Amino acid sequence: MRILFATRNEDKIREIRSILKNLPVEISTASDFPDLPEIIEDGATCAENALKKAREVCRFTGLSALADDSGIFVEALGGAPGVYSSRFAGPDCSYADNNRKLLRKLNGIPKEKRDAYFLCIAALATPDGREFTSEGKLHGKITTESRGENGFGYDPVFELPDGRTVAQISPEEKNRISHRAKAFRAMRRVIEGLIEENGK
Ligand code: IMP
Repeated sequence: MRILFATRNEDKIREIRSILKNLPVEISTASDFPDLPEIIEDGATCAENALKKAREVCRFTGLSALADDSGIFVEALGGAPGVYSSRFAGPDCSYADNNRKLLRKLNGIPKEKRDAYFLCIAALATPDGREFTSEGKLHGKITTESRGENGFGYDPVFELPDGRTVAQISPEEKNRISHRAKAFRAMRRVIEGLIEENGK
Protein backbone atom coordinates (compact mmCIF):
# COMPACT_ATOMS: atom_id res chain seq x y z
CA MET A 1 0.00 0.00 0.00
CA ARG A 2 1.25 3.47 -0.85
CA ILE A 3 0.20 6.50 1.22
CA LEU A 4 0.96 10.14 0.56
CA PHE A 5 1.36 12.19 3.74
CA ALA A 6 0.16 15.66 2.75
CA THR A 7 2.76 17.80 4.50
CA ARG A 8 6.17 19.35 3.90
CA ASN A 9 6.80 19.70 7.65
CA GLU A 10 9.90 17.55 8.33
CA ASP A 11 9.08 17.15 12.06
CA LYS A 12 5.68 15.70 11.23
CA ILE A 13 7.19 13.44 8.52
CA ARG A 14 9.76 12.00 10.97
CA GLU A 15 7.05 11.38 13.53
CA ILE A 16 4.63 9.64 11.17
CA ARG A 17 7.40 7.46 9.67
CA SER A 18 8.29 6.30 13.18
CA ILE A 19 4.66 5.60 14.13
CA LEU A 20 3.94 3.68 10.89
CA LYS A 21 7.23 1.76 10.87
CA ASN A 22 7.13 -2.02 10.27
CA LEU A 23 3.89 -1.73 8.27
CA PRO A 24 3.97 -2.79 4.58
CA VAL A 25 3.32 0.82 3.55
CA GLU A 26 5.37 3.05 1.30
CA ILE A 27 5.10 6.64 2.59
CA SER A 28 5.55 9.51 0.16
CA THR A 29 5.22 13.16 1.20
CA ALA A 30 4.20 16.45 -0.38
CA SER A 31 7.92 17.07 -1.07
CA ASP A 32 7.80 14.18 -3.59
CA PHE A 33 5.00 16.00 -5.48
CA PRO A 34 6.25 19.53 -6.27
CA ASP A 35 3.13 20.31 -8.32
CA LEU A 36 0.74 19.60 -5.47
CA PRO A 37 -1.46 22.71 -5.08
CA GLU A 38 -1.42 24.60 -1.77
CA ILE A 39 -4.62 23.72 0.07
CA ILE A 40 -6.40 26.57 1.85
CA GLU A 41 -7.24 25.65 5.45
CA ASP A 42 -10.58 27.47 5.68
CA GLY A 43 -12.58 24.91 7.67
CA ALA A 44 -14.36 25.79 10.91
CA THR A 45 -12.81 22.80 12.69
CA CYS A 46 -9.56 20.82 12.68
CA ALA A 47 -11.53 17.82 11.34
CA GLU A 48 -12.82 19.84 8.36
CA ASN A 49 -9.31 21.07 7.55
CA ALA A 50 -7.67 17.65 7.90
CA LEU A 51 -10.35 15.99 5.75
CA LYS A 52 -10.17 18.72 3.12
CA LYS A 53 -6.38 18.28 2.80
CA ALA A 54 -6.59 14.47 2.62
CA ARG A 55 -9.51 14.54 0.14
CA GLU A 56 -7.96 17.09 -2.25
CA VAL A 57 -4.53 15.45 -2.23
CA CYS A 58 -6.12 12.04 -2.87
CA ARG A 59 -8.12 13.48 -5.79
CA PHE A 60 -5.04 15.22 -7.25
CA THR A 61 -2.66 12.25 -7.03
CA GLY A 62 -4.96 9.22 -7.12
CA LEU A 63 -3.16 7.89 -4.03
CA SER A 64 -4.43 7.27 -0.52
CA ALA A 65 -3.69 10.52 1.30
CA LEU A 66 -3.08 11.22 4.97
CA ALA A 67 -3.25 14.72 6.49
CA ASP A 68 -3.50 16.31 9.90
CA ASP A 69 -4.62 19.54 11.51
CA SER A 70 -4.07 20.67 15.07
CA GLY A 71 -4.51 23.54 17.49
CA ILE A 72 -4.62 24.61 21.12
CA PHE A 73 -7.98 25.12 22.88
CA VAL A 74 -8.01 27.33 26.01
CA GLU A 75 -11.00 26.97 28.31
CA ALA A 76 -10.94 30.53 29.71
CA LEU A 77 -11.08 31.84 26.11
CA GLY A 78 -14.09 29.71 25.16
CA GLY A 79 -11.85 27.31 23.20
CA ALA A 80 -9.84 29.97 21.31
CA PRO A 81 -7.51 30.09 19.46
CA GLY A 82 -8.49 26.53 18.40
CA VAL A 83 -8.52 26.05 14.64
CA TYR A 84 -6.91 29.51 14.26
CA SER A 85 -3.89 28.68 16.48
CA SER A 86 -1.18 29.27 13.89
CA ARG A 87 -2.38 32.81 13.09
CA PHE A 88 -3.69 33.86 16.54
CA ALA A 89 -1.59 37.07 16.68
CA GLY A 90 -2.07 37.96 12.99
CA PRO A 91 -1.42 36.66 9.46
CA ASP A 92 2.41 36.57 9.53
CA CYS A 93 2.96 36.22 13.26
CA SER A 94 5.72 34.18 14.93
CA TYR A 95 5.28 31.50 17.58
CA ALA A 96 6.57 34.05 20.15
CA ASP A 97 3.91 36.60 19.05
CA ASN A 98 1.19 33.98 19.59
CA ASN A 99 2.53 33.03 23.02
CA ARG A 100 2.77 36.68 24.11
CA LYS A 101 -0.81 37.31 23.02
CA LEU A 102 -2.06 34.21 24.84
CA LEU A 103 -0.28 35.13 28.10
CA ARG A 104 -1.60 38.69 27.83
CA LYS A 105 -5.19 37.50 27.36
CA LEU A 106 -4.91 35.25 30.42
CA ASN A 107 -3.26 37.93 32.57
CA GLY A 108 -4.72 37.79 36.12
CA ILE A 109 -6.56 34.50 35.57
CA PRO A 110 -5.74 32.04 38.39
CA LYS A 111 -4.09 28.68 37.77
CA GLU A 112 -7.26 26.65 38.36
CA LYS A 113 -8.92 28.48 35.45
CA ARG A 114 -6.03 28.10 32.97
CA ASP A 115 -6.94 24.64 31.60
CA ALA A 116 -6.18 23.96 27.92
CA TYR A 117 -5.66 21.09 25.53
CA PHE A 118 -3.90 20.41 22.27
CA LEU A 119 -6.03 18.61 19.68
CA CYS A 120 -4.84 16.79 16.57
CA ILE A 121 -7.10 15.25 13.94
CA ALA A 122 -5.55 12.87 11.43
CA ALA A 123 -7.54 12.14 8.25
CA LEU A 124 -7.11 9.48 5.56
CA ALA A 125 -8.86 9.53 2.16
CA THR A 126 -8.63 6.53 -0.18
CA PRO A 127 -9.11 6.52 -3.98
CA ASP A 128 -12.27 4.37 -3.63
CA GLY A 129 -13.92 7.33 -1.83
CA ARG A 130 -13.60 6.27 1.79
CA GLU A 131 -12.61 8.71 4.54
CA PHE A 132 -11.36 8.03 8.07
CA THR A 133 -10.45 10.34 10.95
CA SER A 134 -8.76 9.82 14.30
CA GLU A 135 -8.20 12.18 17.20
CA GLY A 136 -5.60 12.78 19.90
CA LYS A 137 -5.65 15.23 22.83
CA LEU A 138 -3.09 16.40 25.38
CA HIS A 139 -4.41 18.16 28.49
CA GLY A 140 -2.55 20.77 30.54
CA LYS A 141 -2.57 24.39 31.72
CA ILE A 142 -1.32 27.66 30.29
CA THR A 143 1.67 29.01 32.28
CA THR A 144 2.20 32.65 33.26
CA GLU A 145 5.58 32.80 31.46
CA SER A 146 7.43 30.93 28.68
CA ARG A 147 9.68 28.07 29.87
CA GLY A 148 11.94 25.67 27.91
CA GLU A 149 13.75 25.54 24.59
CA ASN A 150 12.44 22.35 22.93
CA GLY A 151 9.46 21.80 20.67
CA PHE A 152 7.67 24.54 18.77
CA GLY A 153 4.53 26.68 18.79
CA TYR A 154 2.77 26.89 22.14
CA ASP A 155 5.02 24.28 23.83
CA PRO A 156 6.82 26.82 26.13
CA VAL A 157 3.51 28.05 27.63
CA PHE A 158 1.79 24.64 27.92
CA GLU A 159 2.33 23.01 31.32
CA LEU A 160 1.87 19.27 31.87
CA PRO A 161 0.38 17.92 35.14
CA ASP A 162 3.94 17.30 36.48
CA GLY A 163 4.81 21.02 36.21
CA ARG A 164 7.14 20.86 33.18
CA THR A 165 6.18 22.64 29.98
CA VAL A 166 6.15 20.68 26.71
CA ALA A 167 9.24 22.72 25.74
CA GLN A 168 11.03 21.24 28.79
CA ILE A 169 10.57 17.57 27.83
CA SER A 170 12.65 15.65 25.25
CA PRO A 171 11.39 15.20 21.68
CA GLU A 172 11.20 11.43 22.38
CA GLU A 173 8.93 11.98 25.37
CA LYS A 174 6.79 14.45 23.44
CA ASN A 175 6.41 11.88 20.65
CA ARG A 176 5.11 9.36 23.19
CA ILE A 177 2.47 11.60 24.82
CA SER A 178 1.52 14.23 22.26
CA HIS A 179 -1.90 14.80 20.70
CA ARG A 180 -0.32 14.11 17.30
CA ALA A 181 1.25 10.81 18.39
CA LYS A 182 -2.10 9.65 19.82
CA ALA A 183 -4.02 10.58 16.64
CA PHE A 184 -1.49 8.82 14.40
CA ARG A 185 -1.29 5.71 16.59
CA ALA A 186 -5.07 5.42 16.17
CA MET A 187 -4.68 5.97 12.40
CA ARG A 188 -2.07 3.18 12.32
CA ARG A 189 -4.84 0.80 13.44
CA VAL A 190 -7.10 2.05 10.60
CA ILE A 191 -4.29 1.46 8.08
CA GLU A 192 -3.63 -2.01 9.50
CA GLY A 193 -7.33 -2.79 8.88
CA LEU A 194 -7.09 -1.61 5.26
CA ILE A 195 -3.97 -3.70 4.65
CA GLU A 196 -5.72 -6.77 6.06
CA GLU A 197 -8.75 -6.11 3.83
CA ASN A 198 -6.53 -5.80 0.72
CA GLY A 199 -4.79 -9.06 1.59
CA LYS A 200 -8.06 -11.00 1.63
P1 IMP B 1 -0.99 22.74 12.11
O1 IMP B 1 -1.62 21.44 12.43
O2 IMP B 1 0.40 22.54 11.55
O3 IMP B 1 -1.88 23.59 11.24
O4 IMP B 1 -0.78 23.49 13.50
C1 IMP B 1 -1.54 24.61 13.92
C2 IMP B 1 -0.87 25.38 15.04
O5 IMP B 1 -1.19 24.75 16.29
C3 IMP B 1 0.66 25.42 14.99
O6 IMP B 1 1.12 26.48 14.22
C4 IMP B 1 0.98 25.66 16.46
O7 IMP B 1 0.85 27.02 16.74
C5 IMP B 1 -0.12 24.89 17.19
N1 IMP B 1 0.36 23.54 17.52
C6 IMP B 1 -0.02 22.37 16.95
N2 IMP B 1 0.62 21.33 17.51
C7 IMP B 1 1.45 21.86 18.43
C8 IMP B 1 2.40 21.29 19.32
O8 IMP B 1 2.66 20.06 19.35
N3 IMP B 1 3.04 22.16 20.12
C9 IMP B 1 2.81 23.50 20.10
N4 IMP B 1 1.97 24.09 19.29
C10 IMP B 1 1.27 23.27 18.44
